[in-house]
Amino acid sequence: MELMYLGTGASEGYPALFCQCDRCIQATELGGKNIRARTGALINSDLLLDFSPDMYMNKLRYKLDLGKVNHLIVTHSHTDHFAAAELMMRHEHWYCHLQESGKRLQIYGNEAVEQAMKSAIRNDYGTDTIENPFYEFHVIQPFVPFTLGEVTVTALPAHHKPDERSFIFLLEQNNTRFLYGNDSGVFSGETFDYLRGKHLDVVSLDCNYGLEDRYDYHMGISGCRIVKERLLEQNSCDARTSFILTHFSHYSAELHDTLVERTADEGFIISYDGMKVSLT
Ligand SMILES: [Zn+2]
Ligand SMILES: [Zn+2]
Ligand SMILES: [Zn+2]
Repeated sequence: MELMYLGTGASEGYPALFCQCDRCIQATELGGKNIRARTGALINSDLLLDFSPDMYMNKLRYKLDLGKVNHLIVTHSHTDHFAAAELMMRHEHWYCHLQESGKRLQIYGNEAVEQAMKSAIRNDYGTDTIENPFYEFHVIQPFVPFTLGEVTVTALPAHHKPDERSFIFLLEQNNTRFLYGNDSGVFSGETFDYLRGKHLDVVSLDCNYGLEDRYDYHMGISGCRIVKERLLEQNSCDARTSFILTHFSHYSAELHDTLVERTADEGFIISYDGMKVSLT
């Protein structure tokens, strides 16, 4: 499985859109790994994890061929993870020319994500239904694996947006396992229980609050530590497992190099936009 982090910032972006705080000013001046777009990842060039409002710039930054993407799995309906208005550009109405004409994007998410897609259609066309829809929507259920190409996906309950069923995802391919763990605070017992006895090769965690002690809805380093220790205790991980932190906010998380310095001795890897991970 090949994984690329497209964005590693929280919902405001890092630096944030309008913010004049010291971190945002420094991040703008320093550039490089301090620039974090809204969150998402690309798996094997045809599977997207979330669709952020920065997807257009991601296409340019990484020369992505988004026409190749067949599947989009969505964690929850927060607009930094599901920018439905941007997805409308996939419709033939905007002369979206695909080599495989008529190919529909398969979107997997909860009921709130489906409603967000429908409202984007209503906003653009004034109606709930469009001719030749560019997508098919699949409402996913927790703990029920489904297979997309060569990747098996299982949605697990996240501890994040209480008014909807937000998910984290377990991705499996050729006996390798990747846990995409945001947005979420410390996982619930049922999520830990499902992972018991499954060896995870890479675990990606929501470290929105950087070095702060936070556990709910998003985590800081102490929450990530709790998740790591619990996964180790229950043999879901071992010394070979990589723990990657992501989804950093400008209001709590330090600049990239500081995060690296302060977490390296605990074995955490600080993600950055464009970072690639290969699971073999
Ligand atoms: Zn988020
Ligand atoms: Zn700021
Ligand atoms: Zn969220």
